[in-house]
Amino acid sequence: MIRSTKHLLKEYEAFKETALAGRYINTTHISIPLEKASSNFDVEIVGESTLGEPIHLIKVGTGKIKILMWSQMHGNESTTTKAVFDVLNVFSENSQDATINNILSSCAIYIVPMLNPDGAKAYTRTNANGVDLNRDAKELNQIESRILRKLFDEFQPDFCFNLHDQRTIFSAGENPFPATLSFLTPSEDIERSVTPGREESMKVIGAIYRELSEQLPNCIGRYDDGYNANCTGDTFQNLGVPTILFEAGHANGDYAREKTREYVFYAILSGLNAIATRSYKEIASSVYFEIPENEKLFYDLILRNAEVQGKIVDIAIQFKETLKGNKINFLGTVENIAPKLAFFAHREINCDFQEVTLPDLKPLFENVIVDKILVKNEVLVINYDKY
Ligand SMILES: [Zn+2]
Repeated sequence: MIRSTKHLLKEYEAFKETALAGRYINTTHISIPLEKASSNFDVEIVGESTLGEPIHLIKVGTGKIKILMWSQMHGNESTTTKAVFDVLNVFSENSQDATINNILSSCAIYIVPMLNPDGAKAYTRTNANGVDLNRDAKELNQIESRILRKLFDEFQPDFCFNLHDQRTIFSAGENPFPATLSFLTPSEDIERSVTPGREESMKVIGAIYRELSEQLPNCIGRYDDGYNANCTGDTFQNLGVPTILFEAGHANGDYAREKTREYVFYAILSGLNAIATRSYKEIASSVYFEIPENEKLFYDLILRNAEVQGKIVDIAIQFKETLKGNKINFLGTVENIAPKLAFFAHREINCDFQEVTLPDLKPLFENVIVDKILVKNEVLVINYDKY
């Protein structure tokens, strides 16, 4: 019998962890779902972050295939953390479902939902020492990197899921479609050799891609596989463990990343199911190479055909995310002013060759942060809501 996870997506709303929403997710936010998880699963504290925040490990399943996954090693990448808790809800609330039951009886899954709690609290990519943990796999200078490495060495996983967010700039191929999800099997040498371990992870990604393409047509991308020994995924792959990088990206209008969260939920379950059923072995590794490579072709907003200081140009604006209070603000920054920009945008406005200025009537220029601009003497609000 071929098992699928498709039916679970239809019931997604029932499993969505309602304690988590939006972009700002720190240890305070996950304390409620962690408490809930502890009544069904083994939840441990495996160490403390640089600033003394607990780092949790959740152990799920009783099977032989060992899978290690970690989320939010970059503190400002919270979408996959939300999805991980949605997946935990399916495991606890729907364990009688044949697909879920098979995953739980075939796999032992270790989940670190927030590897970088200090970065999560400050909404930074780096940890409290300003170090990118995904460039510390070799040196292991940081306590958070050592905690993950110790887990890896002791658990000796058969597969790793390395869970991240990516910026809104990525398209899936040279197409006007955002890379809502991207995947990568990291290289383990500079030649980017397709080793047996890499081939395994390519097949799992191929299985996920095949299953998700119907729900998410054109919006799945493949990340650059240039080798970097300092990256965690490259190191674990080099140590012989098939490793899959998941990148949660932008879906149309979804700056809160609640829609993307649903796709990540589906992708994680689909990957686990492919491993639990061994169905990934029937996927050709060439499917991986069918996935279009990510390109940096998107801006958040482009104003087309604008008159700036007497010239007709396009104006590209990119949001910068900043933490203010308990919300993430999206500040528009003018990044590019040039005629006929060959880029796509998540939102486009045609200015009909009218003059565009700052609210004080001064001309627009690159690198300025704008929350409002004047188009034809009407105020256009640039900022999106806060999440
Ligand atoms: Zn990341």
